[in-house]
Amino acid sequence: MDNAGPQLLTQSEELRRRALVRTPGGVHSNVRLSGSQEFIKCAQGAWLYGVDGRDYVDYLLGQGPNFLGHAPKHIIDAVFEACRDGVVFGGQHELEVRASELVCQAVGWADMIRFSMTGTEAVQAALRLARAATGRTKLIRFEGHYHGWLDNVLLGQRDGQWGIASAGQLESHLADSIILPWNDLRSVEEALDRHGHEVAAVIMEPVMINAGVIEPLPGYLQGVRELATRHGAVLIFDEVIAGFRLGLDGGAGRYGVTPDLATYGKAIAGGFPVAALVGNADLMNRFGTGEVNHSGTFNSSVMATAAVTATLTSLLENPPYERIAAHGTALMAGLRDIGTERGLPLRVSGLPQAFHVSFGDAEVTDYRTLQQLDLARYESLSRVLVDNGIWVTGRGVWYVSAAHGQRELEAVLSRFDKAVSEWVA
Ligand code: PLP
Repeated sequence: MDNAGPQLLTQSEELRRRALVRTPGGVHSNVRLSGSQEFIKCAQGAWLYGVDGRDYVDYLLGQGPNFLGHAPKHIIDAVFEACRDGVVFGGQHELEVRASELVCQAVGWADMIRFSMTGTEAVQAALRLARAATGRTKLIRFEGHYHGWLDNVLLGQRDGQWGIASAGQLESHLADSIILPWNDLRSVEEALDRHGHEVAAVIMEPVMINAGVIEPLPGYLQGVRELATRHGAVLIFDEVIAGFRLGLDGGAGRYGVTPDLATYGKAIAGGFPVAALVGNADLMNRFGTGEVNHSGTFNSSVMATAAVTATLTSLLENPPYERIAAHGTALMAGLRDIGTERGLPLRVSGLPQAFHVSFGDAEVTDYRTLQQLDLARYESLSRVLVDNGIWVTGRGVWYVSAAHGQRELEAVLSRFDKAVSEWVA
């Protein structure tokens, strides 16, 4: 006889049931739509703890912000302490001056900064400033690079053509975008030769972390820098992921190329929602004169600037970069070894701070060649990785934090090995 008693839901199932009633898709960011994972109870260091009792070694880091690990005590304490005296003033305060000085000091080449809440907003400020400064409208940008979710930057691919990625997105807002393959200097040269007098900005991630963690080919960034200067276009590095992660001076420092403007976010504030646009005084002062509008009720709040000040002080005084690189390097090697032992064409590439896991052996230099890998195969594995206590998404990008150490390395490698054996079985 069938035992048809009431089915007990796990806490996650119960929360998801409630979430779906009040929240479209049960999530507050479409990036989180895929997968029905365990709800998170809390997080500490490099670990996430689920409401149903499982733990996860975290290599997603909240999509990148938890570069110092979850709930770093010195950052949380600094933010709580500062916020006891107020959060938003509608006026200026000393902490925002300090945070601005620290960011410019860390970045090295930039004179001035404006804070915002999200990377999306910082990018919009950069684009508006570039258009105002040049009196031009067109943008050169690149396949596979992500610059936020707004109409004028969100890109999707349909039948091999780049265009809008969402219903309701205005096609006309992309009309000024010239979309090129990345890492191909010739195409930038040709586009600027043809449209140079109309191009306000060239915008890119200096390392294409969003799609495949692909590094610029030798000389590429230098070449784009020269071309942008020659044609009077503003070069914008979108360092929202790379900034403070690859080093204090981000991608610009790593590859020795200075943009005119750069956007930061994620790693800048120990997990708190903060982003920034930095640049030289001649460009940035257009905000200061009021010529170019950049606004935001919550920009440079006490929470944001306390978080930035504590994070950058920590990065400057106690740089975690060597430790992070050591963990990432050992982890990449360990994953490759498991792939070899299991006879799988596992591909682990990129940088120790952020790397990409997939299957295949194509030579990958841009978004198109990335598609030659078996990305769907990794996506399938990623679900088993989560079930085995490794918190990653199907996109294949893994982030390493300052909180990842030997314990995490041992845990992740043994969990990865177990997951792979289950998945191939
Ligand atoms: N730019 C880059 C390179 C990003 O990776 C992201 C987000 O992932 C953004 C901009 C948008 O930042 P946010 O999600 O904070 O709006």
